[in-house]
Amino acid sequence: MARSQSPLDPQDRNACPRPPLALHPVRAVVTGGAGFIGSHLVEELLGRGDAVHVVDDLSTGCIDNLAAVATHPKLRVTVASVADPLVAARLCQDADIIFHLAGVVGVQRLATEPLAVMQCNLHSTERVVAAAAAAKVPVLLTSSSEVYGDGQVPFREQDPVRPGATEGLRGGYACAKAMGEWLAFGHAEQTGLPVVVVRLFNTVGPRQSGDHGMVLPRFVAQALRGDAITVYGDGEQTRCFAHVGEVVKALADLAMAPGAAGRVFNVGSEIETSVWQLAQLVRERANSRSPIVRVPFAEVFPVGFVDPIRRVPSLVRLRATIGWAPSAQLSAIVDELVAAGRAELGVAGAASVR
Ligand code: UDP
Repeated sequence: MARSQSPLDPQDRNACPRPPLALHPVRAVVTGGAGFIGSHLVEELLGRGDAVHVVDDLSTGCIDNLAAVATHPKLRVTVASVADPLVAARLCQDADIIFHLAGVVGVQRLATEPLAVMQCNLHSTERVVAAAAAAKVPVLLTSSSEVYGDGQVPFREQDPVRPGATEGLRGGYACAKAMGEWLAFGHAEQTGLPVVVVRLFNTVGPRQSGDHGMVLPRFVAQALRGDAITVYGDGEQTRCFAHVGEVVKALADLAMAPGAAGRVFNVGSEIETSVWQLAQLVRERANSRSPIVRVPFAEVFPVGFVDPIRRVPSLVRLRATIGWAPSAQLSAIVDELVAAGRAELGVAGAASVR
């Protein structure tokens, strides 16, 4: 497949007129800071000495995710929706940087509530980047590897986005995320707003919920309960799983990295694992007797809902900019999640395990 030059190619945007941000500590806003990735980012930033203002409407996030830092003197939490322009404007006051993570994710949510998912993601980003541009506060915007659709792997940031046909609703999420990127770069062009865009690949770790589709927490819970591990389709589809602790370090580093503004970065692992291999790994590490069963896509997804076969990032740009990329071993991640799942479910070694 031919690769074409995108308007966001680094050659065009590398020469951002804005200076890089000051180093930590800064006053950071984290929208979606009570979510899975957001709460880990909050912990990371507080650990670096930053003051952190979390703005989250708790629609999909949970205040318990911030339990480990709840009494931290540099943490402030506002429960509000950033899709409200007044909230978006207020969060820019006294901020040095905005990490915009608020959004609705989860393949199952997209299947059952497509409008809420598309509108929330588009409007929250639209409001946040507009407010940030008005207040001249730099933004790190989290987007999604979904924007690459079924493109050629490894996905490079300058590749065209491929949300797919509008009759397939999954592309609506991808399109909302891509449009958010374009809006942010539009503000960058017109106002000089420093914007870093991060396309997140499959991110896993403690506190991730399996309620809305995410495969690894679902498999771990199934294995620990002794339920069937449900592999959708033939299980040959692959994903690359990165540990959330490493992903948020990359976000914090990118926000401060010279030369990052005006560019898109893939953040994730580049090690491919098939969903079938993942099911086997989880079963083995959980020492579980759960059967692994294949569930046809048609039973779990609406018609026209395409599950990408492969999703692999190119990390060339990330490594060149911050000097590293996520590298945690999947087996170690699974071990951590199995231990956490055991503690949560109170499954010390009962019926589900050998
Ligand atoms: N998946 C699965 N069983 C489940 C949940 C998900 O086989 O119970 C598959 C899903 O079809 C996809 C992969 O696991 O191929 C990753 O799904 P997830 O929703 O975690 O992330 P995605 O990459 O689809 O955004």
